[in-house]
Amino acid sequence: MTGAAAMAGVNTDRVVRLASELIGCDTRNPPGGEQSVVEPLQDMLGALGARVEIVEPEAGRPSVLATIGAGNGPTLMINGHIDVVPVVESEWSSPPFRPEVRNGRLYGRGACDMKGGIAAALEGVWACRDAGVDIPATLVFHLVADEETGGRFGTEALMNAGLVHADAAVVPEPSELQVCVAERGALLVEVVVRGRAAHGSEPAVGRSAVADAAKITSALHLADFGVAAHPLLGSPTCNVGTIHGGTSANIVASECRLRVDRRVLPGQTQNDALRSLRELIDGAGEFDYTIEILAFVEGSELDAGHPFVADVQRAASGATIRGLSLATDARFLRNQLRIPTVVYGPGSMSVAHAADEYVAIGELASAARTFAALFASFTGCSR
Ligand SMILES: [Zn+2]
Repeated sequence: MTGAAAMAGVNTDRVVRLASELIGCDTRNPPGGEQSVVEPLQDMLGALGARVEIVEPEAGRPSVLATIGAGNGPTLMINGHIDVVPVVESEWSSPPFRPEVRNGRLYGRGACDMKGGIAAALEGVWACRDAGVDIPATLVFHLVADEETGGRFGTEALMNAGLVHADAAVVPEPSELQVCVAERGALLVEVVVRGRAAHGSEPAVGRSAVADAAKITSALHLADFGVAAHPLLGSPTCNVGTIHGGTSANIVASECRLRVDRRVLPGQTQNDALRSLRELIDGAGEFDYTIEILAFVEGSELDAGHPFVADVQRAASGATIRGLSLATDARFLRNQLRIPTVVYGPGSMSVAHAADEYVAIGELASAARTFAALFASFTGCSR
């Protein structure tokens, strides 16, 4: 059993050390300071005998690409982002970029999202090496910039440059050690509602954009879009997150702006999502409004019956199949490149982006064992 031998090669102290070294590099995005982690990664990958290349589509926004193996045989890709979200230092119990072990957990910004996952994958390679297990596949690491603000200078840039090729991929975002095959996308918009100003003593003379926006808010927030629930992702959702309107208590408001987060299921386009918002607003009354698009990311999914899903599940000792309510770089690999891709990693999205972000050390080691077993056994998807 090469898988069992590879799993036994995992060294918990080493994976904690690797994760700590990555967390210690401040790669906050925005503004996007991935440069500080490049040298440590080059050293780590170089020690594994990888061929390393830096791709920098924008000055100061490097991604680290590495290949381990002879290049024959199938290619398995690990895509992990090296940027992290900003911090409010005063909310942290310990400095966010000085990793600290407390109560069996490793604390620091990026501990679970997702430097811990990257460290676990690197430890998977070390474990195979220490156990004397040959890796039958070529392993490709794409350790990318800019995931947290959309991927324009990271995975999307690599894809547009024609640099992304693999037979299968794992994105080690925090998944609580479950195998995620589907994720929701999102349309973020600003709805601008217009009214007619009048004196506040005679509100019926004007038309209040605030009052209209309130009706629109009621129509959109928690709306039922009449779409059948996805077995892993549930129903699409809508949240009205902000409302800004009017200028003074004694003036009838002439303008009000709503910011809306509409989550979509795989296969739904920006136009589908936009149309559904308009239908709900128009169904609630006659309003003078426009919709400005702030951002759209599409959902994505891999058929849960794909053989690679079973491969990862087996390596992960029978982990369950789940969906993610948010989008990751997996969408580029699945939708544009048709690469069978799962999200699997240590830690939980519930502490990602929060103060005192952590990853349980037991989960770091478990994830490393999964990667070791997967690397030892991956011989391609079609058998
Ligand atoms: Zn992430």
